[in-house]
Amino acid sequence: MNQRSYLDYNATAPLRPEVREAVADALGHAGNPSSVHAEGRAARAAIEEARGRVASLAGARPEDVIFTSGGTEANVTVLAEPAADESWQLYLSAIEHPSVLSGGRFHPETTTMIPVTADGVADLAALAMTLEKHKPGGWRPLVSLMAANNETGAIQPVREAADIVHEAGGLLHSDAVQAAGRIPLDMTSLGTDMLTLSAHKIGGPKGVGALVLKEGVRVEPLIKGGGQEGRRRAGTENVPGIVGFGVAAELAAKELGDVAALAALRDQLEEGVRAVAADAVIVSASAPRLPNTSCIAVPGVKAETLVIGLDLAGIAVSAGSACSSGKVETSHVLEAMGLSPEIAGGAVRVSLGFGTKNDDIKRYVSAFGELIKRLKRNAKEAA
Ligand code: PLP
Repeated sequence: MNQRSYLDYNATAPLRPEVREAVADALGHAGNPSSVHAEGRAARAAIEEARGRVASLAGARPEDVIFTSGGTEANVTVLAEPAADESWQLYLSAIEHPSVLSGGRFHPETTTMIPVTADGVADLAALAMTLEKHKPGGWRPLVSLMAANNETGAIQPVREAADIVHEAGGLLHSDAVQAAGRIPLDMTSLGTDMLTLSAHKIGGPKGVGALVLKEGVRVEPLIKGGGQEGRRRAGTENVPGIVGFGVAAELAAKELGDVAALAALRDQLEEGVRAVAADAVIVSASAPRLPNTSCIAVPGVKAETLVIGLDLAGIAVSAGSACSSGKVETSHVLEAMGLSPEIAGGAVRVSLGFGTKNDDIKRYVSAFGELIKRLKRNAKEAA
C-alpha cells in the first residue's frame, strides 16, 4: 500500500506501540480485580498503577479518578441530575460535544445554552449575565465548558468560567478529551470540579475514559450495580483498556514538553495552505488554539470533495466534526460561531499528533494545492 498520512488525531489517535504491548500483557490477567486472591490482586495493582498515571495527567488524586467506557460515558455521568436534589439548572456552551449537548437527564426546560464568539470561544459575559438573571430562581448551576474544541481547537477560558460558576454557587465540568496531552491540565489551577478524559485521543485504546473529580465532589453513578470504582461506576473493570490508558497518559504527559514542535508543524501547514489558496479561511485563527488542530475552508469548495480528494491522495482528514451517522451535516460548532454556510460547509479539520512528521505536512500541502487548482479549473470550465 502506498504511504499514507494520518492527520485525523482529533477523531482518534493511532494506538501507540507501547500501549499495544501493555494491553497485550494485561490481557493475560486471569483474575477479577475485585477478587482477594493473588490473581485478583495482580489485576487490581495494574488498574491502580494506571489510575495514578491518569490522575497525574489531570493534576488530580488517584482516588478521584473514575474509569468509564470513554469520554461519552464520563460526560453523561456528569449530566445525571442528582436524584435527591431537583434544584439544578444545566448550562452548556453551544460548541460542546454531542454527548454533553444531549443534556443527559436534564430536561430542556432546565438547560440553557451559552453562546460563543465569532472565534469559537465561550462568551463568559453571557454566562455571568445568565447566571445572575437566574439567581432568584434558587437553582444551583451545573456548567459544562470544554477545555478545547474538537473541531476548531479553540481553547476555552475554563479558569475564568470556574470563578464565575463558583461565585454563583455552582459546579463546573470540563470535557478535556481534546485538550489532554496537548495543553497542560491541572484540576487545581483550572478550578474545575469534574473533568472528562478519553484514552483513544491520546494514543490509548478505544472504549475507555475517565471522569476525574475534585476532592470532595460526588457524582451519582450512571451505571449502578456492583461496588467498583468506589461505588461510582459499576461493572468489572476493563483491565487491558485501563492499563493501556495509563501508559498512553504517561507518554502524553511527557510529550507536553514537545508541543512547540507540533505547533510549528501546524503553522507550516497553514502557511503552505495560504500559499496555494490565498482565499483559504483558517477558522478560530485569532483564538488561542490547540497546537495540533487546524480547521480550514476554501470558499466555493465543499468539505466532502476535499476529504475524498485528499483520501485518494493518501491523506486522512475529517469534514468538520466526524460524521458518525455517515452523512455530512452542518457542524453545530461552526454554526454557533456564525460562520456562513459556504465556509461551514467547506471546513476540513486537519489534526496532527505524536506520529506526524514534516513529510506528512509537505504531502498535505502538495495534495491540497493540486486539488484546489483542479477544482477551481473545473469550476471555471463549467461556468
Ligand atoms: N468529547 C469530545 C470533545 C470529543 O471529541 C469526543 C470524541 O470525539 C468525546 C467527548 C467522546 O469520547 P469517546 O469517543 O471516548 O466516547
